[in-house]
Formats: sequence, structure tokens, C-alpha cells
Amino acid sequence: MIQKILVAVDGSSHADHALAMAAEIARRFDADLAVNHCLIHGHLPDELRALSDVEIPEMPPMSLGGASVDYQVPRQALESIANKLLENAADKARKAGVNNVTTSWGAGDPAQVILESARNAQADLIVMGSRGLGDLKGLLLGSVSHKVQQLFEGSVLTVR
Ligand code: ATP
Ligand code: MG
Repeated sequence: MIQKILVAVDGSSHADHALAMAAEIARRFDADLAVNHCLIHGHLPDELRALSDVEIPEMPPMSLGGASVDYQVPRQALESIANKLLENAADKARKAGVNNVTTSWGAGDPAQVILESARNAQADLIVMGSRGLGDLKGLLLGSVSHKVQQLFEGSVLTVR
């Protein structure tokens, strides 16, 4: 019934839980596991910055009043982070006993990237965290999870 699973990882602890759950389900069902990541635009937590092989310039200090400044992490660094994140996730899944693990990343709207890779992988289940890197406390479901749930024609498991 479950042959192909796609798990979406953004480097958050929520996504780590989702990965552990997805790997356990894949192992029990002997299903294939596809791990996907969408390049992150905007604020990058220190743990993710540390994954980059490429030097990331320091964020310029906030202007008075806290107005956001125009600051972008170089694309090369984002790709390097994506590759490291996916490599780590695939390692964990293999160590958890999943035989067939593949990885992919994309750029653009994260929900659309996840949906496209799930469709490409012909996944019958998407596993993701209920929340991610966003810091809006009290929110039960992040916008990416919400959008994927609304638009995917298969099953979606949001892990709490
Ligand atoms: P928001 O982004 O709306 O501020 P949030 O960050 O708390 O809220 P989501 O972004 O919806 O919540 O994250 C929920 C789950 O979606 C994550 O645990 C992860 O599985 C997946 N996800 C989110 N962003 C990405 C991404 N860039 N690449 C891959 N998966 C992602
Ligand atoms: Mg998010």
C-alpha cells in the first residue's frame, strides 16, 4: 500500500522527527524513500550556516528601528547546505534500515518544489514536520505543510 515515500527536510528539529518517522515507515513497508529539500531564502539558523562549505558573509547589522536590510546568502552556499543536509538525512535513513534512498533539491516556492518532487518520485505518501524553521510561536501548522496538504492528491503525514 505504501511503496514510495517522500520526506521534506528544511534542517529543523521538526523535519528531523519527520525523517525518523518516514524512515521507520519505509523500513517496515520496504518502501523507497525520496528525501527532498528546497533552498532556503531568508533567515538561516546558525546550524545551517555551519553546514556550508562556502564562506557565508556576515549579515550586516540591522538598521536602527529593526527594519530588515537587503541581505542574501549566496546561491552557492545554499546549494552546499542543501547537499550536506540531504547527505546527512540519507545517511540516517540508511542507518535506520531503509534500502532505497534517493535525494533531490529544488529552488522556488518550497511547497511547489516538494509537490513536484513527490509527483516525480510517484510518492503515495509525503511525510513532513507540522512546523519548520519559522519562529511564529503558537502556530500549529506551518504554511508549507498547510499548502502541501491542500494540494497533494496522495496522503500527507504531518509529524508533531
Ligand atoms: P512558516 O514557514 O510558514 O513560517 P514553519 O517554518 O514553522 O512556518 P513550514 O515551513 O510549513 O513551517 O515547515 C513544515 C515542514 O515543511 C518542515 O518540517 C519540513 O518538513 C517542510 N519544509 C518546510 N520548508 C522546507 C524546505 N525549504 N525544504 C524542504 N522541506 C521544507
Ligand atoms: Mg518554514
